[in-house]
Amino acid sequence: MRIRNVFGPVPSRRLGRSLGVDLVPTKACSYDCIYCQLGRTTFKTVERREYVPMTDILMEVEERLAAGVSADYITLSGSGEPTLHSDCGDILRTIKTLTDIPVAVLTNSSLLGDPQVRDELMAADLVIPSLDAGDAAMFSLVNRPHPAVDFTVMVDGLAAFSHAFPGRLWLEIFLLDGLTAAEEEARKIAFHAARVRADKVQINTVSRPPTEEWAKAPTRQRLTELASLFGPRAEVVCGFTGTMEEHEFLAGRSRVLDLLQGGPKTLDDLAHLSGVNRNETLKHLEVLLNDGLVHSKVRQDIRYFFCENL
Ligand code: SF4
Repeated sequence: MRIRNVFGPVPSRRLGRSLGVDLVPTKACSYDCIYCQLGRTTFKTVERREYVPMTDILMEVEERLAAGVSADYITLSGSGEPTLHSDCGDILRTIKTLTDIPVAVLTNSSLLGDPQVRDELMAADLVIPSLDAGDAAMFSLVNRPHPAVDFTVMVDGLAAFSHAFPGRLWLEIFLLDGLTAAEEEARKIAFHAARVRADKVQINTVSRPPTEEWAKAPTRQRLTELASLFGPRAEVVCGFTGTMEEHEFLAGRSRVLDLLQGGPKTLDDLAHLSGVNRNETLKHLEVLLNDGLVHSKVRQDIRYFFCENL
């Protein structure tokens, strides 16, 4: 079954009803974060190219808009890093001509050292870049970047972008127990974050099954303590996001549950068999895991979801 490039709207704690636009549908990413909810990066790259035809993406967006979709944001994201798409800027600018719905971009910041990428993102209404480490060693450990991504170039690019960008910028910082949630490490991140012109600093952590089982969430209290290092713009945003009980969205969840009744499946299995985009499938799994209807386990580096204990 064909996986759509445009999915949702899905409920997002930060963005409300978010219509997702998947620019990189295979797990093409410049990072391989230990906490990634999408599983291991299968294609670690910094090469910018047309991973999905721009015309296909725009046609799907137009179809959804013509059908009267209602959303708080159109969000460029992906099963990987969206700025890897070489037409990211053109896609963004074209969507802006089609609708008044604000457009957000989620990025891991890896390519912000490139002035061309910074320029392409200028048309967005909201950019949510991430910064998960305070030095190159922790960056290697947590984000496992492509060798071409230099920590200092990335952080300098992020700071430069934030000062040139006219829209809203929410800096996301993902803290992990025993790693970046140690005060010394969080202080190092805060030092770099202070160089970024951010409207909000959003402190986040693991809330869905991570790629590595040892990537753990600190307590909410610990996150709240650490948030104070990031100044008055900081807020803790982690936690279960609740549900959007709409017919179409619930139908997708039923499909995922039905498939799992037939035996354990990976995220990719579920997305392919249901025809539901991986990011949307993850939203359903989050609800089902929280409700105790589904469980997950890693076997030989692959995460499986299932209805009863394996
Ligand atoms: S969390 Fe984001 S940046 Fe990290 S590997 Fe996953 S998709 Fe890439």
